[in-house]
Amino acid sequence: MAADVDDREELRSVVAQIRTNLASRGRSGLLGVPVRPTAKSGPPVAASPELPAVIEADDATSPRGQGALQVVRADLGDCQRCKLAPGRHNLVFGVGNPQADLVFVGEAPGADEDAQGEPFVGKAGQLLTKMIEAMGYARGDVYICNVLKCRPPGNRNPEPDEVAACEPFLKKQLGAIRPRMIVALGKFAVQCLLRDDSPISRLRGNLRTYEGIPLMPTFHPAYLLRDPSKKKLAWDDLKQVNAALARVGISPPNPPAG
Ligand code: URA
Repeated sequence: MAADVDDREELRSVVAQIRTNLASRGRSGLLGVPVRPTAKSGPPVAASPELPAVIEADDATSPRGQGALQVVRADLGDCQRCKLAPGRHNLVFGVGNPQADLVFVGEAPGADEDAQGEPFVGKAGQLLTKMIEAMGYARGDVYICNVLKCRPPGNRNPEPDEVAACEPFLKKQLGAIRPRMIVALGKFAVQCLLRDDSPISRLRGNLRTYEGIPLMPTFHPAYLLRDPSKKKLAWDDLKQVNAALARVGISPPNPPAG
């Protein structure tokens, strides 16, 4: 009789451990296989800072794209990992095509982005949208995000502890999208992603890699607004991006003339 009770206790404990393990693997997107083929061009993920209420099982197990991205967003949650959290109005996760070939990474949300919960919606964002369109893409064809998901007060530079807390999520975000090319915008994003503190004027225009993904460093649109004479160089960089993508068979929906 005592042996029976012990056996039942042990069984209960094993089942509880299996449940915990399955739940945790499910949250990390490590369980199962996709139950439907993933479309090449999924619907854009809303810029909404809201957490998805429920992550559908098939989305959560999708190897690439929206489901995988939602798992990263859910993992980030109502993030309180750094000192920027109390000052934010919205956490700015990212916006665009969750299966984009091309991802643009900026520095951190500014006031407009913090207010709207969407990256690059202010003046610099309007210029970025024009740059994307000049390459032959619509904003919704690509994915746009930042190194930091919360606005630094007064738009000051991100600090090392903030980057240390936030960059793992950018890494997971890029791992979920698996783009064919990253464009890093400005000194901060470029230096952070490449772990290279050379000046942006030297880094820009030279193709590098981040976690095995080709990365093109170029000027930040806010810098281009301050010094429009550098727009030509930025355009040269973006033409290189299109050329590099063309070499692997990827062309924009509306290729620029010439
Ligand atoms: N600057 C950035 O780096 N990111 C934004 O989202 C807006 C401005």
